[in-house]
Amino acid sequence: MSKETIFFNRPYMTGKELDYIAQAKFGNMLAGDGPFTKRCHRWLEAQTGSNKALLTHSCTAALEMTALLLDIQPGDEVILPSYTFVSTANAFVLRGAVPVFVDVRPDTLNLDERLIEAAITPRTKAIVPVHYAGVACEMDEILAIARKHGLAVVEDAAQGVMSTYKGRALGSIGDLGAFSFHETKNVISGEGGALLVNDPALALRAEIIREKGTDRSRFFRGEVDKYTWQEVGSSFLPGEMTAAFLWAQLEEAQAITNRRLALWDNYHAALATLERQGALRRPIVPENCQHNAHMYYVILAPGVERQAVLEELKRHAIYAVFHYVPLHSSPGGLRYGRVQGSMEVTDGYSERLLRLPMWLGLTHEHQEQVVGVLGDALAKA
Ligand SMILES: *Cc1c(COP(=O)(O)O)cnc(C)c1O
Repeated sequence: MSKETIFFNRPYMTGKELDYIAQAKFGNMLAGDGPFTKRCHRWLEAQTGSNKALLTHSCTAALEMTALLLDIQPGDEVILPSYTFVSTANAFVLRGAVPVFVDVRPDTLNLDERLIEAAITPRTKAIVPVHYAGVACEMDEILAIARKHGLAVVEDAAQGVMSTYKGRALGSIGDLGAFSFHETKNVISGEGGALLVNDPALALRAEIIREKGTDRSRFFRGEVDKYTWQEVGSSFLPGEMTAAFLWAQLEEAQAITNRRLALWDNYHAALATLERQGALRRPIVPENCQHNAHMYYVILAPGVERQAVLEELKRHAIYAVFHYVPLHSSPGGLRYGRVQGSMEVTDGYSERLLRLPMWLGLTHEHQEQVVGVLGDALAKA
């Protein structure tokens, strides 16, 4: 067997990134909100249908902006899954809020909408669904619960660029949405993100919070004759070099997604036999979701020692990885958060989930090798 290393992830470059960065340099515009940033904003608005898109330096920053925009106060509660990245919770803990962890659905590993209402208290301010692997949460149910109880909905769509739910772009469905362009995502700028401000009532304050608490954006548009400190904000905007890089990627976002989907479908077909044999479970994408092939994971059969499988893959120079340590069982989660109800699905599935190599440049031969070695490892496990 060939020993060519099969990496878990390699960042994909379209080839135009450095060109555009050079253009930004020659345009003598390197700070934020220059021509490339504006192009990215217009593209994101057109692509998602959101009222307003604002580039940030990360999805983490966009989530932190949502906590400021919703005026989250100490002691407020925010409902979210425990099976997520730390920033989903940390953004609200920064404002003194308590993350209330709710279990996930066994099919998509997304926030289980049937468990949300039991977690609502008079202190609850927002629901933060996370679209895991770029597969949508049950947004209609979540929006209905939020409306009934007067809560805001913030979508952590970090992994959801180019995915849809019933035809609507992820990130554009709740009051606010956050994208990530981190190197490990589908469309990248190294570090990077965007805030989607879907509720028009929040648009002006979003600009202010992003520009150090000032109305500088209005000043640049000529709407005020000087800019001044308005409210609490920070510097959440990326420089033009990051936006220039991102523009090269956004231009090809659909092509990138299509190529990833082809790889995803190939894994899916190749793993059908192992699923039939009961060795693993493949990802489930509900009918009303168009996903973006952000991730290909498998759920190992109960009792299989995942670490041994990962090591067997590594022995064949294949780098697969597990994913989140549930926040409710992490030191930060125990200190700042609270659990609502059973965490059975989160605890069970997080220990059985294994992510396979997924990046543009991966070949069908690589994928065959991954599936072959995985099958052998599971036969031994
Ligand atoms: C990647 C990710 C983030 C953080 O994104 P950054 O751009 O690195 O800040 C947040 N939430 C989820 C679900 C993610 O996958």
